[in-house]
Amino acid sequence: MRYDVIVVGAGSAGAPLAARLSEDPSCSVLLLEDGPDYPNVERLPELLARGYHVMAGYQDPHVRNYAARANPQKTEPMLMPSGRAMGGTSTINSSIFLRGATHDFDSWAAWGNPEWSYRRVLPCYLRIERDLDFDGDFHNKEGPLPVRRVPQTEWEPNLRAFYRACLDRGFSESPDMNLPDAAGVGAYPVSNVGGLRVNTAMAYLDLARHRLNLTIRSNALVRRVLLEGNRAVGVEVISDGQTFRVYGHEIVCSAGAFGSPMLLMRSGIGPDDHLTDMGIETKHHLPGVGRNLRNHPVSGVIYRDAGMKQKDSVLSLVFLRYTAAGSDTPHDMSISVDNRWVFDGAPHTRLSACLEYARGAGRLTLTSADVSAPPHLEYNYLQDPWDLARVREGVHLAIELAESPAMKHMLAQRVAPNDQEMASEDSLNQWILENVTTGHHSSGTCKMGPHTDPLAVVDQYSRVHGLEGLRVADASIMPDVVRVNPNATCIMIGEKVSDFIRQQP
Ligand SMILES: Cc1cc2nc3c(=O)[nH]c(=O)nc-3n(C[C@H](O)[C@H](O)[C@H](O)COP(=O)(O)OP(=O)(O)OC[C@H]3O[C@@H](n4cnc5c(N)ncnc54)[C@H](O)[C@@H]3O)c2cc1C
Repeated sequence: MRYDVIVVGAGSAGAPLAARLSEDPSCSVLLLEDGPDYPNVERLPELLARGYHVMAGYQDPHVRNYAARANPQKTEPMLMPSGRAMGGTSTINSSIFLRGATHDFDSWAAWGNPEWSYRRVLPCYLRIERDLDFDGDFHNKEGPLPVRRVPQTEWEPNLRAFYRACLDRGFSESPDMNLPDAAGVGAYPVSNVGGLRVNTAMAYLDLARHRLNLTIRSNALVRRVLLEGNRAVGVEVISDGQTFRVYGHEIVCSAGAFGSPMLLMRSGIGPDDHLTDMGIETKHHLPGVGRNLRNHPVSGVIYRDAGMKQKDSVLSLVFLRYTAAGSDTPHDMSISVDNRWVFDGAPHTRLSACLEYARGAGRLTLTSADVSAPPHLEYNYLQDPWDLARVREGVHLAIELAESPAMKHMLAQRVAPNDQEMASEDSLNQWILENVTTGHHSSGTCKMGPHTDPLAVVDQYSRVHGLEGLRVADASIMPDVVRVNPNATCIMIGEKVSDFIRQQP
């Protein structure tokens, strides 16, 4: 049996990609996923169905936790969770559904990927959503994924207070954060209805499972891509302790920002020196595989609550999107509020200043050629002075909002950073560098770009440079992470790459 397309990884990008490809009955599609499958939503484990989001370090078979180094100043490792189930990380995330900014895509296009200008990606974003609140040119009411915003009347008191504090500070109200260039303060759009997190397996695969041209295999771990000369011809898969080979005309790696570069490198595709160190024969030298590891560094200001009873709602999420002072990259910062942040074993309120458009990038490398070995992850957070300066300003702004008349009665003592850490620019810098954490938005490790870009791994049609029959489609192909939470963009990538594959002769 030779499939037309084999998709590796059924996550945010892979599930929609396989489902869309299988709309053509003449195209046979095999979707391989390492994690389990829950075709019956009633049987979905509680963690995947209703979580707020899965916290780093959570021990569960549906979560991979890789240890990572934030930067040389932070000694404690960061744990980077990702989803291991049909639906991928969309089964464990916070279900925030935000489109990337117009500036993101106009940069991607300017870097040699004109297919990814905002105008060209918008139809794919529209195809995803069934917006339950808004209509008009920038929304769709008929896509597979429901999107809504929690109305202000249901917001928890300290989120309402944060909202008021932002308005008092002069930021504008933004009821629809998915409009192009929306900024100011508003509710996160979420793909969560009645408390159920709608992941991409539910939204896309459940509508396609009956198709005879779509084969879905769970608990199938792909060890490597099989190459004949410069053509990918199939994959080697481990399932229930046995090794199989399956063949396809086209192989698409949608194993995520960690999984896809690791899969390429295990297959002999990557930086020659690193592959040699790992004892892997280089089949195709591609220096960019694993480089350009992007993410959103976060610095959290933490307060004790003033004893207000909060509703235990999972979705009352509000955030502020703004541009740092003196910045020429619009919407490069955000501040959000989490009132269940656990600090010293007790719930606290955290205001998170998030750098949405960082200059710095890190690197993913292998620790072994073994398929079960974790990667080595170096993020290099805030080593660029401009990145650090914007986060420092974000921490000051978060404190100003929290201690403003609209909000201060909700919160008791600030526990981090404390007054000593706030005493000078140097002490605050040190606190930020030692405590910076992750926004959980790893991307960019198989960067898209023209062949003249030495770090580009795929071209703008997601084809691996220098090889035939091999593509990558997931968070790893973003040239830079979009300046918002990236799940909607990963789904859009799945949609867009399905167009490329279907349009080819
Ligand atoms: C805790 C957390 C909260 C988040 N919250 C949000 C949010 O609210 N909103 C938002 O926009 N973003 C959020 N994100 C980020 C977002 O969910 C991810 O960026 C996105 O899901 C990544 O999609 P992907 O398709 O690239 O990879 P994934 O969705 O991770 O899919 C990769 C799939 O490939 C499988 N796989 C990997 N290797 C192999 C292999 N060798 N063989 C077979 N299968 C394999 C994996 O099991 C997985 O199912 C969050 C992330 C985390 C970790």
